[in-house]
This record gives sequence, structure tokens and C-alpha cells, in this order.
Amino acid sequence: MSGHRIEAAGLGKSYGSVRALAGIDLEVEPGEFLVLLGPSGSGKSTLLRTLAGVERPDAGTLKIAGRTVEDAGTHLPPERRDLGMVFQDYALWPHLTVAQNVGFALRRSRLPRTEAAARTAEALGSVGLAEHAGRYPSDLSGGQQQRVALARAIVSRPGLLLFDEPLSNLDADLRERLRLEISRVTRLCGATAVYITHDQSEAFALADRIGVLDHGRLVQLDRPEEVYRNPATAFVARFTGCAGELPVQVAGTDGQRATVRIGSIALSIRALGTLHPGGTASMIIRPDAAAFTSPTEADAVQAVVTDVAYRGRGYEHAVRTEAGLLTGLHGPTRLERGARVGIRLSPQGCHAHPGACNNGEEPKATTVRFEPEQRVPFPGRQPAL
Ligand code: ADP
Repeated sequence: MSGHRIEAAGLGKSYGSVRALAGIDLEVEPGEFLVLLGPSGSGKSTLLRTLAGVERPDAGTLKIAGRTVEDAGTHLPPERRDLGMVFQDYALWPHLTVAQNVGFALRRSRLPRTEAAARTAEALGSVGLAEHAGRYPSDLSGGQQQRVALARAIVSRPGLLLFDEPLSNLDADLRERLRLEISRVTRLCGATAVYITHDQSEAFALADRIGVLDHGRLVQLDRPEEVYRNPATAFVARFTGCAGELPVQVAGTDGQRATVRIGSIALSIRALGTLHPGGTASMIIRPDAAAFTSPTEADAVQAVVTDVAYRGRGYEHAVRTEAGLLTGLHGPTRLERGARVGIRLSPQGCHAHPGACNNGEEPKATTVRFEPEQRVPFPGRQPAL
């Protein structure tokens, strides 16, 4: 089975004075796994519900598999869009068995009974629940119930799968396992997937491409690596992994780069927006762009450790510099509270923007994990800037 191509142009939706979707242009390739990432209220659900056909946009067009499903004079209902959906709260029928819940999705297909039963068994097998077919949802754990919902979404072999924050009701360890399951099963069946979440680590782990939504606008649509390395706006940078923001002086600009100074240290970094030499700017720092080093080292920002948390694979620290607070800094050893340290900044992970430093008012994402070899053991040196 091949996945559907999605083509959206100028999709808009307002609720009174709130523009939930402010003109969305989006193309998703057949078989692609797209994650829509954004904070609460950014328009993710409205966009997903528009793709599903349960919400009517008030502007724009939408094609699924080359067929217009939405424009000024067209609205195809969900059951005619060849899609499956997985919800946050599983949405299973409590009075139906697991097999009946999954088979229910085939009721419109007019398949012979034996074929429908075989497909139901196959779908349950693919999520590892074959032996639970006769049970009721209340007998199952949350993770198992969500796997039933996944089986129900794929049983009719749709060309499009829509996921509405499917992991948010699960505990952390289950979330990780089910994320892998969703990724495996979706890619196995070849369907195009659109998945919404406000959790950037989930988005980075699952996506072929990530679409970042900010106040109803799609502000970046790129591979996860690209979103992380080259965030399009300060909002994207903040929302996809940020240790903090520090004020800097702009020493010079050159196209999309700027030389900025923090104390006596100069860094050549990406500029998000127009910066003016001689003026001030804010520098957004990725957690992996700040490495611990000796406080006596030249080019190190002076800091004091204010907090340390053990994270299994290492320690996460918060530090106070003269210019502001940085959090989520990884180190292989425990640095005690009150210790004086140096922070060496890697320019690849720093982005300057003309706005004010924003440390906490906007939603900030949790730390992104990195490969151990990318880390520099304290008090080692990073490669020269
Ligand atoms: P998200 O899924 O990213 O949290 P939503 O798409 O649910 O965002 O909401 C986008 C904006 O539209 C929000 O400001 C929200 O309050 C508003 N909104 C969504 N649905 C409705 C509705 N049915 N009635 C009024 N406002 C709505």
C-alpha cells in the first residue's frame, strides 16, 4: 500500500477573533512521517482536524491523494478520506472486545466475514496483541489500549494516519516503547503519517520532517536535523531545545551571520533577523553548545553551578553566569552546587536575534539528548572556535 500525498494551500480557520490557522501551505510526500510541533494553542489540533475532515477551514484548499477534499465548494467527510486516526484518550468502545473494536473500523468495507476476521487478526498481530483479541479495553493497560487503537487505525489499510498526541496519557517508560511501536508499524504499512505533539523530543525522534507551528502559522518545515541546526526563528530555537538566552553586543554583521561579544569573548554565530553593529542582541544557546571547562581558561564564560540533577547517562546542571542563567547543561561528572566553572560556547549552537532575552515567558522545551562522543569531558577543551 502506498501513502497519500497531502497538498494544503492557504488553509485558514478562525474562531471569532482567534486565527487558529493563519494560511497554511503544506505538502507531505507519500509515505512521509510528518510531525507538527508547537505549544498549546498554536493550531496543531485544528490543522489535524482539518486534515481529518471534522473541521471545515474557512479559507484555502486541501487535496489528499490528488483529490480535492476541501475548497470553497467541497467538503469530503472523514469516512471518505481513506484515513485512520489515533487519539490521545484511545477512544475505544468499552462494551466491545479488542477484536470487535478493531473490526468495527472495517464495517464499511463490505469485506467477507472471514477476510475481515483475518485482517483484524493481522492488525492485532502487528501490534503484539493477538492473544488479547477476546478481552475488553478495561482489562488492558493504557499502553495496550493505545496499541488496540493503533491496530484499529491501520486495519482498513488507509493511505493516511493521523495521530493526536497519542502518547501524552502514558507514563515515561511506556511512552518510549509505544513511540517505537508507532514508528515501526506506521512505516511498515507505508501510510503517510501526520502526528501532532508539543513535545520536541518526541518530534525529533519520530519525524522525517517537522512542521513548527506558532500562532497558526507554519514557521518552519524541515528535517529534524535542519530544525535543530538552523532554526528559522527565535521562537523555533527556543521551542526546540534552549539552555537559556544571554545578552550580547553586536560587533559586526555579514549576511546571515553576526559577530557578537559576550564580555571579552567574540563569537561568529547565525543571526535570526536583522542585527545592527554597535547594538545589542540576545543569544539563544542550545544545551549542547555549552561545555564545561576550567574557569581559568581564556574564552570561557565564568559561571557558578546552581543546581545538579543525575540523569543516568550523566548530570544536568544549571549555572549562573554574570549575564544570566543557563539550564540543562550536560556533564559526565557531578559538579557541586557553588562550584566555579568555565563555560565554553560552541558557535554552531548559538543563535542571535534582535529581541529581548526570553528566559521563561514562552514555553521552553526539555533538553535534547546527544551522542556521548559529542560531549567534552570536564575539564577538557572543545575544538578551537
Ligand atoms: P493546539 O492543538 O496547538 O493546542 P488548537 O488548534 O487546539 O491548538 O487551538 C488553536 C487556537 O484556536 C487556540 O487559541 C484555541 O483556543 C482556539 N480554538 C480551537 N478550537 C476552538 C473552538 N472550538 N472554539 C473556539 N476557539 C477554539
